[in-house]
Amino acid sequence: MTAAMEDYLHGVLSGNRRWIARAITLVESTRADHRDAAQRLLVELTPHAGAARRVGISGVPGAGKSTFIEALGTRLTAAGHRVAVLAVDPSSRRSGGSILGDKTRMARLSADPRAFIRPSPTAGTLGGVAKATREAMVVVEAAGYDVVLVETVGVGQSETAVADMVDTFLLLTLARTGDQLQGIKKGVLELADVIAVNKADGEHETAARRAARELSGALRLLHSDTPVLTCSGLTGAGLDEVWAKVVRHQEGLDLAGKRSRQQVEWTWSLARDRLLTRLRDSAAPVAGEIERQVLDGTLTPSLAADRLLAAFRPEPPSPGGA
Ligand code: GDP
Repeated sequence: MTAAMEDYLHGVLSGNRRWIARAITLVESTRADHRDAAQRLLVELTPHAGAARRVGISGVPGAGKSTFIEALGTRLTAAGHRVAVLAVDPSSRRSGGSILGDKTRMARLSADPRAFIRPSPTAGTLGGVAKATREAMVVVEAAGYDVVLVETVGVGQSETAVADMVDTFLLLTLARTGDQLQGIKKGVLELADVIAVNKADGEHETAARRAARELSGALRLLHSDTPVLTCSGLTGAGLDEVWAKVVRHQEGLDLAGKRSRQQVEWTWSLARDRLLTRLRDSAAPVAGEIERQVLDGTLTPSLAADRLLAAFRPEPPSPGGA
């Protein structure tokens, strides 16, 4: 191990925030030499990771995620936990746009010495962002954070990516008029292990309770026993109950089994991504012509797929080579 790598390792294991941040920057980097260094660091950190509760938190923009995480996180640190907040938001850009986990949205928690908040990586593709967040999870766990909250927006595929990396997936929703299920995509309901109707305070409280009852009834019709609660990130009402359900869900899990399956699934997912990238790279010189023939009708899609595969080179071209 190089001297620099020793610094990273000791820095992270000793819980030094600056080294934790630098290690996450390293795992987020797409530069080839950084990738090698990051993988060597992760090999060293992995035996120290795995002891945290991993909780995904999803909800549409405005559902109150950051307010909720700020309030829940503060309660957890007050109870002696060390809380890391990570995020998966492939649409995020450092300049403008939504940046989940943004510290300015969680002012109190980001000033809490027992909390560590990291905005979503901006690596671009969902696969890239999810990979960086998974690896950041290893870093913060090795640094001693025993609760990892992974925030994601309730749009697109990012929820599935987060559900695949956490033990428990919590969906924050709002009381809506009309059909409860209409406001929430069915796929997301299936991912949720715990559902909380948020903003159950003041004049909204009654509507939130009614919404929770309706949603719970609708879920039972779908043969789901996912618990539905109400809470308010603003007042703190119901937060302890929501957390208790999260803990209860984890107690009922074969956690080791779930995590093993996630690791194997993830391995295949990475392999698929890389295979596809290599295929696209190798077929690039001929792809345009093949696509044109498909559009002309002179080549069937099936034969075209064979041609693309015939151009496949399993190894990436060597840097200085032909
Ligand atoms: P996010 O986009 O899901 O992160 O939502 P935010 O936490 O930024 O909240 C969106 C808006 O809803 C803000 O104006 C908050 O002040 C408000 N809000 C968040 N949580 C609550 C809550 O529990 N009750 C009420 N009444 N308003 C809330």
